[in-house]
Amino acid sequence: MSIRLFTVIPCFDEEAVLRETAARLRAKYASLVSDGVISDDSRILFVNDGSDDATWQIIRDLHGGDPVFQGISLAGNCGHQNALLAGLNTAASLCDAAITMDADLQDDPDAIDAMLEKYAGGADIVYGVRSERKKDSIFKRNTAQVFYRLMHAMGAKIVYNHADFRLMSARALQALLQFGEVNLFLRGMIPMIGFPSAEVTYERGERAAGKSKYPVKAMVRFAVQGITSFSVEPIRMITRLGFFIFFVSILVLIYSLVRHYTGHTITGWTTTVLSVWSIGGLMMISLGVLGEYIGRIYMESKGRPRYIITEYLKDEKDTPDLIDRKGIV
Ligand code: UDP
Ligand code: MG
Repeated sequence: MSIRLFTVIPCFDEEAVLRETAARLRAKYASLVSDGVISDDSRILFVNDGSDDATWQIIRDLHGGDPVFQGISLAGNCGHQNALLAGLNTAASLCDAAITMDADLQDDPDAIDAMLEKYAGGADIVYGVRSERKKDSIFKRNTAQVFYRLMHAMGAKIVYNHADFRLMSARALQALLQFGEVNLFLRGMIPMIGFPSAEVTYERGERAAGKSKYPVKAMVRFAVQGITSFSVEPIRMITRLGFFIFFVSILVLIYSLVRHYTGHTITGWTTTVLSVWSIGGLMMISLGVLGEYIGRIYMESKGRPRYIITEYLKDEKDTPDLIDRKGIV
């Protein structure tokens, strides 16, 4: 029995690569339909994340020329994770399974076959796991490794070398949509759903065209998001550090009293200045970490919409049941 598959592709200023991506996926869909794996009403859903270039116009043209392409447009740039969620929320009630992949062809469309096999074998979630990182810059490769280690040390169950290329069954999508947080880190949330999962290994290619939308600043922001939305370990570290410094200060106190009563002049300036600066620095860092969490609580407490959909280019029959009220059509 063939299933209705949606492939959700977030696009932010992707005019340079979009047509090529569309053509590659179109060919993939054609072969999957003719093999009877997916039904011919399966769709490729582009999510325009507030692009400033011709991205939305290209999506319109694609939709006009071939109903396999659908598109939703978000009001403004909501970020990669929110764009993915907007697409998944729209697809959830329309499909049997949805795949998410990047617009730049770094995620290999040929891995879709293996994902569908695992789905047919009973997996609700199939993670695309990259086999190697040769194509990434040395910097990106190393920072990514450090990040995965850090996340594991902090207790978040993220899948090693998996980004946002994955398949989810309709059941898993419905479960995901129950997560109401605005600070989204999908690759940490999805393993928490706990449905049967599988992995498919693929070779991550180079961006086919255009520029990366994740400069170092955005990478760091995303890493902080990942850690703070899954772990309070940084706050615990501050507490431990506080106890440690308190312990050291008792030793210093004893030492200074001994020096005082044995009649030695207190050695002064260097240690005083050093301790003032180091403790001051640690306090600032600690406040910063607390601030990070308070900021997130603030954002969550507002309960603002995670994205707002302004337009949906769809099939007539497709009326999505938007569970997530934060997405408005
Ligand atoms: N993206 C998005 N909104 C953003 C930033 C990125 O929808 O604010 C999309 C982008 O169009 C691409 C995917 O997220 O499809 C991954 O971005 P990119 O390839 O630039 O990241 P990299 O692979 O360099 O980490
Ligand atoms: Mg990319």
